[in-house]
Amino acid sequence: LVSIIAIDGPSASGKGTVAQRVAERLGFHYLDSGALYRLAALAAGRRGVDWDDETGVASVAAALDAVFAGERVWLDGDEVSTAIRSEAIGVGASRVAALPAVRAALLARQRAFAQMPGLVADGRDMGSVVFPHAGLKIFLTASAAVRAERRYRQLIARGEPADLAAITAELEARDARDRDRAVAPLQQQPDALLLDSSGMDIDSAVAQVLDWWQA
Ligand code: C5P
Repeated sequence: LVSIIAIDGPSASGKGTVAQRVAERLGFHYLDSGALYRLAALAAGRRGVDWDDETGVASVAAALDAVFAGERVWLDGDEVSTAIRSEAIGVGASRVAALPAVRAALLARQRAFAQMPGLVADGRDMGSVVFPHAGLKIFLTASAAVRAERRYRQLIARGEPADLAAITAELEARDARDRDRAVAPLQQQPDALLLDSSGMDIDSAVAQVLDWWQA
């Protein structure tokens, strides 16, 4: 049986880094489900399909020619590792993610990541929709102020322009859209353990997840 750890939470909660490190430590596969929504938004944009066109984006999502290798991602043979991380594509991802047909089109592709010996899946609906039978479900969060600060420092470290007030406003808008949508809204599942990483570094968050898994 494939072991599954589902880690859900809002943007910039650190779940991507935590999930990847946990996967490395356990020798499990890793699913960055947000990357699939980002790829769908990018691919739609490149094909001139409007982000609100549910049927159009769903058919783009169903036919995504995507390849993952570690941190790198290719779309139609073109490396898009950096392109999918832009703020604009993050916004596009959260818009296409609100469309039920798009979510349905990506479901089988996400489930296909569940391979021996196990998978750490990171997203918004890993524990609720994609892997409801996961052996461990975690809701990883941090205060909006801490998440905005982390994103701000990331941008500064990359030498990109950053405005803390604007970042905070964008994070809150994206969280509200992810939380308030009708389909697969972001919320802590009743069977998920809450991990608030506000006052915690990555190593402590990883250690907590591993403790819960081994318990
Ligand atoms: O996690 P990340 O910021 O890469 O996700 C981008 C967007 O994709 C999120 O804001 C969310 O709207 C959407 N998403 C989702 N379900 C997931 C993963 C991401 O709706 N499982």
